[in-house]
Amino acid sequence: MIGQTISNYRIVIRLGGACKVCALALDWSHRVPRPRWALLVQAVVLVLVALAPKAQAQGLTTPPAAAATSSSSSPADRVYRNGVIFTADARNRTAEALAIRDGRIVYVGSNHGVAPFVGAATASVDLKGQFLMPGLVDGHMHPLEAGLKLLKCSLNYESLTIAEMQQRIQICLDHSASEDANAWLEVVSWFQESMRPAGVKTSRATLDALKTTRPILVTSSFGHTALANTHALALARITASTPDPIGGKIWRDDHGEPTGLLEDSAYDVFSDLLPKPTDAEYVAAATAALKAMSRQGITSFLDAAAPSESMSAFTAVRRAGGLTARAHFAPVIEPKESGDLPGAVARVVAFAKQYDDGAIARSPGITVRNAKLFLDGVIAAPALTGAVREPYLMNAGTAEKPHWVPGPSRGPAVYFSADALATVLVELGRAGIDPHMHADGDGAVHAALDGIEALRKARPTGDIRPAIAHDEIVEPADFPRYKLLGAIPVLSFQWEKPAGDTLGLTNYFGPARMKILEPAGLLAAAGARIAFGSDWPVDKLDEWFALKVGVTRTNAPSAGPEYSGRLGDDPGLSREAVLRAATIDAAYELHEDEATGSIEVGKFADLIVLDRNPLKVPAEEIANIQVLETMVGGNIVCEASAVPGVR
Ligand SMILES: [Zn+2]
Repeated sequence: MIGQTISNYRIVIRLGGACKVCALALDWSHRVPRPRWALLVQAVVLVLVALAPKAQAQGLTTPPAAAATSSSSSPADRVYRNGVIFTADARNRTAEALAIRDGRIVYVGSNHGVAPFVGAATASVDLKGQFLMPGLVDGHMHPLEAGLKLLKCSLNYESLTIAEMQQRIQICLDHSASEDANAWLEVVSWFQESMRPAGVKTSRATLDALKTTRPILVTSSFGHTALANTHALALARITASTPDPIGGKIWRDDHGEPTGLLEDSAYDVFSDLLPKPTDAEYVAAATAALKAMSRQGITSFLDAAAPSESMSAFTAVRRAGGLTARAHFAPVIEPKESGDLPGAVARVVAFAKQYDDGAIARSPGITVRNAKLFLDGVIAAPALTGAVREPYLMNAGTAEKPHWVPGPSRGPAVYFSADALATVLVELGRAGIDPHMHADGDGAVHAALDGIEALRKARPTGDIRPAIAHDEIVEPADFPRYKLLGAIPVLSFQWEKPAGDTLGLTNYFGPARMKILEPAGLLAAAGARIAFGSDWPVDKLDEWFALKVGVTRTNAPSAGPEYSGRLGDDPGLSREAVLRAATIDAAYELHEDEATGSIEVGKFADLIVLDRNPLKVPAEEIANIQVLETMVGGNIVCEASAVPGVR
């Protein structure tokens, strides 16, 4: 018997629609505490599935295991047929069809083989050749901060002229005309380095020209610069006589007056002046972030530096039935806690006790099983705060006749001493918490690997999955250590292209290091299991652009001729490898690969349907992929819809 057929994807494509209709509140009524026997049954099913002989489904060149343990006499809730299904299983097999019952995948294989799962009440989706794959797992982002930015006036990381910038901000002012004349306007995601024409200067006059009396603070997307109007400078008491603070700079005109441009610690003063978000705003931010994630196909994520506000906001969203992705959190252990590392680890464990929902279940929950440790800053100029093995170069010549030679700086000392890092990693291992280390320069990476080596020596058998985020430059001698030590590089693929931040390092790094900058392909060749993490909102959330760059190592054609070509000598990753990094391998990083990350029988139905095939389209086109449907635990959380009246 053939059930109800749903086949609106073709209509969606004709309309050019993407996944727009995202659920704000879902009926997760099945979310009841799972009894122990249910967990036991789940474990037994997973073991049986793992042990089951690989069934030969028909119509496939490399058939995945069929539902050996699932009774085909009991119909599925939903079936997909006629698709190109990338499973991300151990052999990267593809399938034509899959069946879902009670939020779990009960069959993967051929169109013929799925037929017995179709009953009278089964929703049967004809994919008409469309691409289906596991939902994206984003192994490093900052969702609360990102969500707060979504609620603010945003310049959206765009390349703007001064007039366009003014126009955008004026629209925000006009839209919030009811605000008090002294209410702050915060403007975010300003791509200062990409203002047009190149080199054009902004100042407080840019903002003073707007029709408002309100204080305005514009912050750059790179996070190192802010632009304030005259009213804002006055409130912050920044005048010609204010000295530059340590770690910051106040730009001044010929008369010594502040221009409004402020670097790094020079705008810290505003954090006390700007209104703090309310609890309701945090919840709104979490909700906005989840909606943006669902549209891009993200079904699990890690908050890679989670403040308690983030855990409590996402918990509130979960309680209201609106958590549409599996949410993992890494509270930060700070270097200043080095004096009491067991106490710092106990604090993370206390967060886990307070917020963690336990084993991955059908409906998304909160997981606290990571801790974040910053080991250095960023290698990008002008910060040069990444800890590097060889010194940054400096110009010993003149601006006209530059002569770049090794300078005195290797960046800051790694933020944790070798002893402290070893101690904290071992303590985390004992507590069952995975360390997630920020290490941008090769010096910090080396220290992270040494710390993991100490952890492995002290606890050779524990299933601890240490991650090293960013890894923008790695000493070649350290490449094989990732595999050897089971260290997971968590990479933001979108950085692996010619752009201001990468090419801006050319003089400071010299040619040898530039060749191996962003070494994703080299790490993969050395056997590392790479996970993807967007680092949103450092960049805008654009998973498909990032995955494209992971393959091509090229910028967008619109970036202009100075950023054409590939970055460095690194070979990049295969298409399958980038898809795995953003699915099963990031699920491994988050310790949920037994339950999600691939399309396999027994796993939860976390999946996405795409408007084109990322394994087949020209590589540049991967950036334009639209997600048509996002499903988590068998529930659709976002879908393209051509239904009239639904936007
Ligand atoms: Zn980050």
